[in-house]
Amino acid sequence: MTRCSGSWGSWRWAVEQSYAIPYPQLGSVLGEQEIGVLAQLVNSGENLSGGRCREEFERCFREYLSVPYALSVTSGTVALEIAIRLLDLDVGDEVIVTPQTYKASAQPLLNYPVKVRFCDVDPVSLNIGPEQFESLITSRTKALILVHYGGLPCEMDPIMAIARRHGITVIEDCAHALGSEYRGRKPGTLADIGCFSFHSSKNITTLGEGGMITLFDRTLADRVDRIRSNEADAVYHEKVRAIRERTSAHPWMMHPGFAFTHGCAAIRYGGTNATLAEPNAAVGIVQLTKLDELVRRRTEIAATYTDVLAQFPGVRVQEGPDPVRHGYHLYTFFVDPASGILRDRLVSRLDAHGVQMQLRYFPLHLLPEWRARDHDAGECPVAERMWFEQQVNLPCHPGMTDRQVDQVVSRLDTVLRQEVRNVPITSAAAHEVEGNPQCPK
Ligand SMILES: *Cc1c(COP(=O)(O)O)cnc(C)c1O
Repeated sequence: MTRCSGSWGSWRWAVEQSYAIPYPQLGSVLGEQEIGVLAQLVNSGENLSGGRCREEFERCFREYLSVPYALSVTSGTVALEIAIRLLDLDVGDEVIVTPQTYKASAQPLLNYPVKVRFCDVDPVSLNIGPEQFESLITSRTKALILVHYGGLPCEMDPIMAIARRHGITVIEDCAHALGSEYRGRKPGTLADIGCFSFHSSKNITTLGEGGMITLFDRTLADRVDRIRSNEADAVYHEKVRAIRERTSAHPWMMHPGFAFTHGCAAIRYGGTNATLAEPNAAVGIVQLTKLDELVRRRTEIAATYTDVLAQFPGVRVQEGPDPVRHGYHLYTFFVDPASGILRDRLVSRLDAHGVQMQLRYFPLHLLPEWRARDHDAGECPVAERMWFEQQVNLPCHPGMTDRQVDQVVSRLDTVLRQEVRNVPITSAAAHEVEGNPQCPK
């Protein structure tokens, strides 16, 4: 492993090395096959922005999901930015979003003059449920952005029935849910627009960064295609006389024909370059063939954890609608403080035992940028209670060895027994308590 020269980089490296079971930044596993296609691509001398691999990756993705349109972009964040663009949000429109997510799910909304309504989550699944969604709908509600938290699908059939009744567009943030299933169908096909991330922490990666937008609507797919490839997102009309006809230049000397053969009416957005490069797409094609196996391994690890946790009253695991396939991007369980198990202390004990812990996700509405827009504590009491008192994530990653999984299991068992018996915390663990998050006031 290469050490970063910066002090923060070395510090982080040193910290990760000190854990028997690090919570890996790497969520996906790359191997010889990926290295092989990269070497082949580079040696071929092919144009690395050419699009051959990109189109093939998108075709495989469409096939995997059974969805008519899939357009790759450079990250999950960009996918969400573009998806939100498609909503054509106007002053006073309202968008309902979950607070239990990574900030990218809602962040683009800061750029619009809209009212954001954070929707409290269900304490069992950590997802937005149909009742919570319906209770926030007004005549101005334009869209719902939901997340299949950790890879556990939301209860989509009733949610979509409500959305259809009110003419609300639904965006699925599927960053955790590639490889999951809801009643035999895949996230990204359950609503209007699906957004995926191929960041290195996700279920598959396109070499570090990447994303995908899935759609059913041809017009929207055309808009996404323009936005991501430096065309203005506008209403175009066929020109009566193309400029090409009025110049002596050969057509091949000109830029691609579209700009010269079409007139431009209403411009909605200037577009950007969010094109996924060929090496990323080439790796994506390989990763997609491994997806089911990678998720199978995640599921196997998750089942092992669930077996241990089942022995402890006061502990429950994240659960959702049936029948679903949980993609286990995250493994989440909850402790009940009334049972004597205190979350912060439990996390500190695990940390002191060499199991690196990370908590996901700080409720979005309490971040400074949303507080500055008049959101505050008390808005989503369930999400707040879960995050500040109950929620725990364990390392769950297909790159973990059997030995590491066994170590998590035995240490989890040990520390839960210590919690139940209220054994005093060790000094090493006590030190870690200081670094734990507290509810900001
Ligand atoms: C990772 C993630 C994103 C953003 O994806 P990037 O590819 O990292 O930009 C969006 N939403 C959720 C829920 C995520 O976990």
